[in-house]
Amino acid sequence: MIYLDNSATTPIDPEVLEAMLPYLKEEFGNPSSRHYTLAVNAEKAVEKARNQVAELINAKPEEIIFTSGASESNNFIIKGVADYMKYYEEKGNHIITSTVEHKSVLQTCKFLNGEVFNNLPNKSVASRFVKKKAEKKIDRGFEVDFLSVNEYGQVNADDFKNSIKENTILASFIYGNNEIGSLNDIDTLGKIAKENNVLFHSDATQVLGKIDIDVATLPVDFLSFSAHKMYAPKGVGAAYIKQNGLTKYKMTSLIHGGQQEFGYRAGTHGVHNIVGFGKACEIAKRDMHEYMKKIAEFEVEAKKIILAKYPGTEFLGDPVNKIPGMIGMLIPGIVNEMLIKDLANEIAISAGSACGISEPSYVINEINKTPKSSLFIRTTLSKFTNIDNIKSIGR
Ligand code: PMP
Repeated sequence: MIYLDNSATTPIDPEVLEAMLPYLKEEFGNPSSRHYTLAVNAEKAVEKARNQVAELINAKPEEIIFTSGASESNNFIIKGVADYMKYYEEKGNHIITSTVEHKSVLQTCKFLNGEVFNNLPNKSVASRFVKKKAEKKIDRGFEVDFLSVNEYGQVNADDFKNSIKENTILASFIYGNNEIGSLNDIDTLGKIAKENNVLFHSDATQVLGKIDIDVATLPVDFLSFSAHKMYAPKGVGAAYIKQNGLTKYKMTSLIHGGQQEFGYRAGTHGVHNIVGFGKACEIAKRDMHEYMKKIAEFEVEAKKIILAKYPGTEFLGDPVNKIPGMIGMLIPGIVNEMLIKDLANEIAISAGSACGISEPSYVINEINKTPKSSLFIRTTLSKFTNIDNIKSIGR
């Protein structure tokens, strides 16, 4: 099986696996237990990983909060900031985001905006019941603007500026789009947020370990990450929360309970996963420039091969400001689900985000390609992709 769906998830780097194994075997202590060696070792491992994640983005270790992944980080940051800013700081209740965010941002914002969400399978009785209820809007006390985007799926800086109001508390824009790979201009958007005293979050899940992120200069307050997009295991991620000075940034927790993660996130740490995430960040810091250069070169090759096999293919997204290795395209005359099924035992590619798999891509709709959404295919290369894998696309 040739794996070319690395935006959905990546294989685990063998170095990462090796670092994790002791924490699945003999080093099984709970880092929140006290004083005995097994617990202390586990705690040390978590703190080492926190340092490794922080170093990759030039953050302070205490600015990294481990979560179960980017969906949780997005929910935590948006709901946590919204709740705190409105009900405790009384700063306002308006949030700005875009129409092409990952669903964990989009649905969180729609939820705050009064919609009911419960993604039960479409045909279930429970889902019909929830759908009926969902017709009713609930006043959760927030107002959200969903900005439309340009042909590449990017937010326009002036649109953002013009949408900021007196009561705007938070803006959230995706760093690199998970379907077509375009990068938003986070630097410019973040500066606008700062100038207007609006907190700024970016979902950086698809860019961590792929492009340089330096939070010392990037004007963001919050970032979301996931380990399984960068050669580490599933079920772990992080929220970056900028800390100014000694007082911890105040926001409401999503997972209530214990005092883990500086009190931001309750629950026993998944030590082995956290260790794997940390190791993957260390490797990315060490090797990223080298493998991303190779991936960018392979992308050029892959596009040539795709065009030769499927003339007329339209590559989507910003051709320059993009995530290297992610290729979102419309292939004329080829229905995506059919192609994916045809290739199912040979090559793994996708028709868009794995989180919205049962529906046509809304990103494609938003960039005005609706009639062609059934032609949309996404393939993403990784540091493990080799030239033979690329050639297989043309077979
Ligand atoms: N945001 C983006 C941009 C993503 O691509 C994904 C993964 N599909 C997520 C959030 C969710 O990440 P996780 O699987 O860790 O919950």
